[in-house]
Amino acid sequence: MNNSQPTLHLSEIIITNNSEPIINGGLLIEDSKIIAVGKTEDFGDYKNKNIKIINHKDSLICPGFINLHSHLLYSKTGKINSSDGLFPWLEQLVSNMKDWQEDAYINSINFGINQALSTGTTFLVENTPSNLSAQELSKSPLRALIGIEVFGSDESETENILHNTLEQMSNCHSRFCENDIKRIELTFSPHAPYDVSKPLWKRLLQWSQENSKLLLTHLEESPDEKLWWQNKSGKAVNFWKSINKLEPKLKYWEKYNSGIDFLNKNNLLSKNIIGTHLCQANKDNLTVLKEKNINLVHCPRSNYYLNNGTANLKLWNELGILWGIGTDSIASNENLDLLQELRFTINQQNITYGFNIPAKGAFKAITSNAAKIISKDHELGYLKEGYYADFLVYDIKDTPGYTYQDPYNLIVFDVDNDKDLKEVWINGSRAWMKERMLNTI
Ligand SMILES: [Zn+2]
Repeated sequence: MNNSQPTLHLSEIIITNNSEPIINGGLLIEDSKIIAVGKTEDFGDYKNKNIKIINHKDSLICPGFINLHSHLLYSKTGKINSSDGLFPWLEQLVSNMKDWQEDAYINSINFGINQALSTGTTFLVENTPSNLSAQELSKSPLRALIGIEVFGSDESETENILHNTLEQMSNCHSRFCENDIKRIELTFSPHAPYDVSKPLWKRLLQWSQENSKLLLTHLEESPDEKLWWQNKSGKAVNFWKSINKLEPKLKYWEKYNSGIDFLNKNNLLSKNIIGTHLCQANKDNLTVLKEKNINLVHCPRSNYYLNNGTANLKLWNELGILWGIGTDSIASNENLDLLQELRFTINQQNITYGFNIPAKGAFKAITSNAAKIISKDHELGYLKEGYYADFLVYDIKDTPGYTYQDPYNLIVFDVDNDKDLKEVWINGSRAWMKERMLNTI
């Protein structure tokens, strides 16, 4: 529901991402969009105009956060213990969920949605084999890009799989997207190069190019992937055996150095792809991706938890790669809180690579740069005239450093989502507020 009357939000600090942070600013919105943003005095004698005023007083307003990688379906599996890496973890994940019925999945997805919203996420990039994420996200206020996960190593099944997934997408689209086409969008997520055959990947790439869609995929996440590509070994083999997926993979196996090598040599890379993880990608791999203008997503806490290593963001920056941040699922993370993810990233990059990410750069990774990665920087990621009114309101009156820190430092290091996040606005409407949340507990 949108407001027909323009509303002016007044706040001590406004981070727009478009100019220097505004001290004593106003954000004027109407329906779903921002009409103007500026200093309070720029709005003239607003009290005499037909404008509703909300004075947030000692607050900081900033663009909503964009989580570039999640799997809401796994929000309630509990954190699965796995220092043995990705594939034993996947085996445990499959086993934990084997008795779940539809209501358990729905419950799990909503647990994730509520956690994302209550920590300032306004846009979620979701990866799922099920239509339930779209069903539940369409009922929530969140914006989302949902990648329907595609698996298929048997080359002879390509057209069948494609036919079925296109049908699933069209069904999902007509049930959950048609009323609000801009808020929930669908695409495909070929799970990873080791799970999708050459011809199937080719068809999905073709589809993405013809329909101007992004393709979401996992790339070079764990050390076991290279072992598979190089000599059919590693922990993946046992996992695939346990879920009866090994046979077609062996049948069509060809030797490559890595998943990226497989995609590159078969001409299966394009700028439509968003690659996630890349903890095990070397400089050659990353150079290939940069040449194709592929944007990347880092999920540091999940990678750390699964013992997959970590992305070298210093190198990513040197190569000029555009990157953002995702949380992955709560099955391999503490929570979906992007500010916590960002703080972990900053510390880890500093310790591991001596790489200092300034607060402003870090903030852009979950706002404006993230919007660019999903090709939405013309309407999201900034508080700017004509953009969607997706923003957060933080109470900063008790925040240490409030009077002297620069606003990017304040948001990236000092605010606490549990305590300080007051309101989340999406599409010009209040999507979440702290008090309401407390009342429902
Ligand atoms: Zn993932």
